[in-house]
Amino acid sequence: MLRTGSSCRVALLILCGAAMLSQTGGVEPPTGRLPNVLIVTVDTLRADRLGAYGYSRNTSPVIDKLMREGVRFTQARTVEPLTGPALCSMLTSRYPHEHGGSRNGLRMRSGMASLPKALQAQGYRTSAFVGNWTLRDKLSGLAEHFEYYEEVISRRRWFGLVKGEATADDLNEAFDVWLDDHAGRHGDRPFMAWVHYVEPHAPYRNQKAFHGQLGFPKNQALGDKEKYDTEIAAVDAAFGELLEIAGKKINLDETLIVFASDHGESLGEHGYWGHGRHLYEPTLHIPMSIRWPGRVAPGTVDAPALLIDLAPTILGLIDTEGNAPFAGFDWTAVLDGGEPPMDRITRYQAHRGAVLSKHDSDLARKAGLLAVGLIEKNRKEIFRMERNRRWLFDLEADPKELDSLTRVNEHPTEGLLGWMRTVYEGLGEFDSTIPAPLDEESVKALKSLGYVD
Ligand SMILES: [Zn+2]
Repeated sequence: MLRTGSSCRVALLILCGAAMLSQTGGVEPPTGRLPNVLIVTVDTLRADRLGAYGYSRNTSPVIDKLMREGVRFTQARTVEPLTGPALCSMLTSRYPHEHGGSRNGLRMRSGMASLPKALQAQGYRTSAFVGNWTLRDKLSGLAEHFEYYEEVISRRRWFGLVKGEATADDLNEAFDVWLDDHAGRHGDRPFMAWVHYVEPHAPYRNQKAFHGQLGFPKNQALGDKEKYDTEIAAVDAAFGELLEIAGKKINLDETLIVFASDHGESLGEHGYWGHGRHLYEPTLHIPMSIRWPGRVAPGTVDAPALLIDLAPTILGLIDTEGNAPFAGFDWTAVLDGGEPPMDRITRYQAHRGAVLSKHDSDLARKAGLLAVGLIEKNRKEIFRMERNRRWLFDLEADPKELDSLTRVNEHPTEGLLGWMRTVYEGLGEFDSTIPAPLDEESVKALKSLGYVD
C-alpha cells in the first residue's frame, strides 16, 4: 500500500536524551524466533561528524550508544553518494547500474529481489517511512518492495514554496501510528520497518535548541559546518525519541536495529559543497552498525564494508534463505568470529544529480555517468568521464586525498577500466526504458533539494 500524506500534529511530547534502549517493564518479547528488524537511515550524514567515529563535538549521543551496543563498521562506504540510487542499492543489494535508479528521478527496474521482499516471504510485515522527495515511489520505484510505503512530505523549503521533505518528528509520528496498528492487530507477526530521516540535508538550518549540547554560545550565528552539526544533533535526538516510542510497544533487546546513512557530505573539501558528483571520502564514508543483543557481539569491523552488504547480512543473521542474487557481502560469518576480508576490493560510481528535463531524458542513464572509483587496501583510484582523467590516492598517507599519485593524462588501470565498462554497459541496458520527463512539481522539489545540474 502506498500512502502519501502530511503529518500535521505538533511534535510528539516525548522526552529525548540518551538512547532508551534498555527495556521498559511489562513488554512481551515477539513470538516466534524471527526478530523485528528496524532500519534507520539518516540522509547526508558523514561518518566523521559522529562521536562514534571520533568527532570531538557531542553531536550524536544516541547514535554513539547504539553503536557501542552493537557492531560498528569503521570502513563502510556507500556505492553512489546520492539519495535515491544509494537507498535503492541498500534495499536491493545491487549497484545503481544494475537496478537502474542511477540518478534521482529515475525509477529502478521493477520486479527486483530485495531485503523487504525476502523478509515478507518469511512472514514479515514490511513498512517504510520516507521523508525525502527523491524516495517518492513515482521517482524511485520503491513502493513495490513494501506492504506499506508511506511518503511523509510535510516540510516546506525555500520560503515555503515547495514541500519536499519531512521533519524527523513527522516521520516518528507516522511510524508510531503504524506501530500502534501493528502491535494491536498483527503483533504475532514480526515486522521490518525502515525510517529515513532527511536532516542534515542542505540547506542546513541552525537548530538552536542544541547549541548547549554542542558547546556553542546561545543564539550564536553559525557557519554552515556548525549548522550541519546542529542538524545532526537534532536528528540524533529524534532517533532517541523513535527508540523510546518503539520501546514501549516492542522489545528492543530482541529487535535487530540497523543504523546507517545513505552517503556523506562534502563540507568544502576539494572546493565542493554537497554530494553526488564526486567520489572523495567525505561523501563515500558512512556510519553503519547493527545492534542485536545476544546475537551480534558488540565491537568493530575494520575491513571494507558497503551499504549493499546490509541486506545479505541481515538475512544471514536471521538465518533465512533467498540472498543469492545480492551483490553485497554477507558479514554473518565474520560477526560470528570468522576472518574479515581485509583485501576486499570495493567499487563506486557517481552520476549526475537528477533527470529534470527532456534533454536529460534522451540519454538519462549513460550520459549521467560522471565517475567510477575503486579501492584496494589503501589504494584509491578515481576516473572522471568528462575530464578523461584519473586520480590515484594512498588513503593511509594522504587521507584527505590532496596529492594524486598519477600524471594528468595517465590512463585508468585494467581493474578500473573493467569496472567502467561494466557500469557503462549496464546503464545501456535501460535505453529502452527511458522515462518521461518529470512533472513540474517534482522538478521544483528536486531543485529545492539542490539537485540541479
Ligand atoms: Zn541522501
